Amino acid sequence: MSEFQYYMPTKVLLGENVVINRSELFTKLGTKAFIITGKSSSKKNGSLEDVTKALNKHNISYCIFDEVEENPSLETVEKASTIGRKEGVDFIIGIGGGSPIDSSKAIGVLVKNKDCSVEDLFSKTKFLSLPIVAVPTTAGTGTEVTPYAIFTDHKLKTKRNFGQQVFPEIALLDAKYLNSTPDNVTINTAVDALSHLIEGYLSANANILSDTFAEKGFVLFSECFEALKNRSFNPEIREKLLLASTIAGVVIAQAGTSLPHGMGYPLTYFNGIPHGRANGLILKAYLELCSIMDKQQKILSILKFNNIDEFGKYIEELIGKETSVTEEQIIEYSKAMISNKDKLKNHPFDVTEEDILNMYKKSLLNNK
Ligand code: NAP
Ligand code: ZN
Repeated sequence: MSEFQYYMPTKVLLGENVVINRSELFTKLGTKAFIITGKSSSKKNGSLEDVTKALNKHNISYCIFDEVEENPSLETVEKASTIGRKEGVDFIIGIGGGSPIDSSKAIGVLVKNKDCSVEDLFSKTKFLSLPIVAVPTTAGTGTEVTPYAIFTDHKLKTKRNFGQQVFPEIALLDAKYLNSTPDNVTINTAVDALSHLIEGYLSANANILSDTFAEKGFVLFSECFEALKNRSFNPEIREKLLLASTIAGVVIAQAGTSLPHGMGYPLTYFNGIPHGRANGLILKAYLELCSIMDKQQKILSILKFNNIDEFGKYIEELIGKETSVTEEQIIEYSKAMISNKDKLKNHPFDVTEEDILNMYKKSLLNNK
């Protein structure tokens, strides 16, 4: 067996009312919390109320930053960290989808290191962070168990990982917060988690432990396929999707994401396509590219598809076709992708600019 390393230090707790029931966990992290969340969903789905109740119970003071937008910008992170530094907070609680939780990780680093600038987050230097508690309210990114955080960089006109390694200290998973999720968010985020499983499983860095998690993730996913197709989500399915998403996070924490994520970022930045849907549009073409790998067949068989076309048809039923992207755009995106070695490094065999362009064409142009 080839050598490998497995590291996932986050304490993960799943259960109904876990934030309230395990509120004592917050007391070990300090006496002042900084809650980071999106503009409105956490106020409606009960997650913010539960967190503040849990903090009040233990007389932990807190301040709230509720301005994190989708695909968060570095400007937002900078604004929040200025407040966090002034308030002297001890730890961060990120509530919401990937956007607020990713932001919490960068804010945790910036508040902990007073001289660290937003640009420094992308340097080779690794900084420590304040402790992060993640309370996910979408089932998609798995950021509650990954060291990554993805930001929109308007100067470079792209989305990119901040290059730091910040695993949340604690992840508190309660599927009841997902009950209010609109169907399009449920579907897009579920497809994001499925992309994580597929990309992580096929990654050059996959190992026996990440594969074990991925295979269980595929099983859980296949049990949710009917519900996703019918857009009918009961609490049991919500919890399964949340667990599958966290498992997929464990997989990419080890193996990383690969070509669909790299190819999806410009679709989000320039074409405004939500993150999960952007990856999903590329998935069938990616599986075709990987048909030389035995593991590709294994994925289809665990997911109970007879062939790639069946898989593609199913994904199209979930996320539809995308017709807004032009040929000129995908030529640009392919050039940018092939010149960025970081975006290619997890893919297990060499690809050319033509391979990338063909995947974009199959995914976005042949549909019109
Ligand atoms: P998101 O951008 O965090 O949120 C999308 C939308 O869903 C927002 O409008 C949000 O509203 C709403 N929402 C969240 N929870 C809800 C709920 N329970 N009920 C109703 N609405 C809800 O979406 P996401 O897909 O979870 O995160 C995407 C981001 O994560 C991207 O930037 C992506 O690149 C990144 N990502 C990170 C990792 C990683 O490992 N770090 C992995 C994959 C993706 P509010 O704004 O009002 O809250
Ligand atoms: Zn993703």
